[in-house]
Amino acid sequence: MSQEIDNWDKMTFQEQARLQDKKIKYMVQEIAKYHPAYKKAMKEKGIDPSSITGVDDFIKKFPFTSKKDIAPVDENPYIPDYYIMQKVEDPEYQPRFMIATTGRMAFSVPFWYSSYCLENIMNVVASRLVAVTGMTPKDVIINSFPYSPHLAFWLVYYATTGKGLTAVHTGGGKIMGTQKIVGLTYGFKATVFIGVPGYMYHVIKTAEGAEKQLSDIRLLITGGDRCTMTFRKQIVDLLRSMNAPNPNVCAAYGFTESRMAPLECPHPKGVDGELTGYHTYPDLELWYCIDPKTGERIGPSEKGELVWTALGGHGTIVMNYRTGDVAEQGIKYEKCPWCGRTVPIISSMIGRVSEVKDVRFDKVKGTLVDLNQFYTIMPEYPNIDEWQVILQRNQETRIDEMIVNVSPRKGVKMAEKKLVEDLSTYIAEKMEIAPSGIKVMTPDAISQSLGMEKELKEKRILDLRPKD
Ligand SMILES: [Zn+2]
Repeated sequence: MSQEIDNWDKMTFQEQARLQDKKIKYMVQEIAKYHPAYKKAMKEKGIDPSSITGVDDFIKKFPFTSKKDIAPVDENPYIPDYYIMQKVEDPEYQPRFMIATTGRMAFSVPFWYSSYCLENIMNVVASRLVAVTGMTPKDVIINSFPYSPHLAFWLVYYATTGKGLTAVHTGGGKIMGTQKIVGLTYGFKATVFIGVPGYMYHVIKTAEGAEKQLSDIRLLITGGDRCTMTFRKQIVDLLRSMNAPNPNVCAAYGFTESRMAPLECPHPKGVDGELTGYHTYPDLELWYCIDPKTGERIGPSEKGELVWTALGGHGTIVMNYRTGDVAEQGIKYEKCPWCGRTVPIISSMIGRVSEVKDVRFDKVKGTLVDLNQFYTIMPEYPNIDEWQVILQRNQETRIDEMIVNVSPRKGVKMAEKKLVEDLSTYIAEKMEIAPSGIKVMTPDAISQSLGMEKELKEKRILDLRPKD
């Protein structure tokens, strides 16, 4: 390995800036030659590759790429291919291994690694995952990420198998079934459990129901969905009630388009709100934040949309890529007080740029609803365990309905009618709209409705309205 890779977490921020200037300069020259989409874009916009000598030039001159630029459309399914570096005569550039985005968009988008990228990105990030989270050969690791061509599953596979750690790759509920996963976790006295937060909670609750004490778990690593403060508290309390002495939570910010996943270092006060943030890889990637409205770059620790750029590699490459994710406290350029690494750290709390939908609750006009708010307000409501929001259109009246499904938390003695009234008022206060209906369900019924055993990722918010 080259020296800069050994040193990735010890460079001063000045050294990092120098390295990133050098790398971006090289990368721009590479894409100007071998990257079909950027080669074309740079020509059209009259960007001279030699005029970009460092990060500042790059940010000033290079256009943004967004999710819709790289996604296939009905008329052209080949768009993602234009983002794969092409140098036919060089085997190092050959695409060899593929992951894909999950189905948030109509089409999922493939992302390729070349053999060089498997060695110098996948394997490198995998070993850093082990180092940052502090997993050791003494651990027994359960990987509950769905078996699929997704970054999360494969990164954990490479991190464990590649680094000589003991792991069971269950494939998740869809492949192995939750009962078996509980049995394995219990039977093998697993110490580390890895998965999507919603599913992880489902597994550990199932274990509790089956009276299988998962008392050896010391570390939870989450990815694939937001890891809220409420989730961290709930899951740690649940494990403590099973006599797990001091479980820690490390969230990863897995991001398919980067083919990497920065993550939090563990520390025991995480559940008390002192989150360590996502430790990025300054030798492999460039992150900065913008004001999502103006596209202007903003300062350290300021709230903004995350923008990502590859600093090396081939296969599928995106540059100046708008993630659509907002870091609540931006990016920090200070030594991590917990692990001592000097790398840019993205604040732990990440939201999506609002997902506002036009909902027609009456015939007169639509109401704008930011569905993302549910992810914050529902876990904070104390009397429920699971929740789901469904938007549907009444066939007869042609009016939209917003139905909220919930299961009451264990031990909550509130009458169903009272719970429905109370929750309805709570939602109306927080969102300024009242749900059309609230359905109280059993834990089994809601976990089926969420698709815990069937889906790659639970169906938390469903918009079933016809697209017109
Ligand atoms: Zn740290």
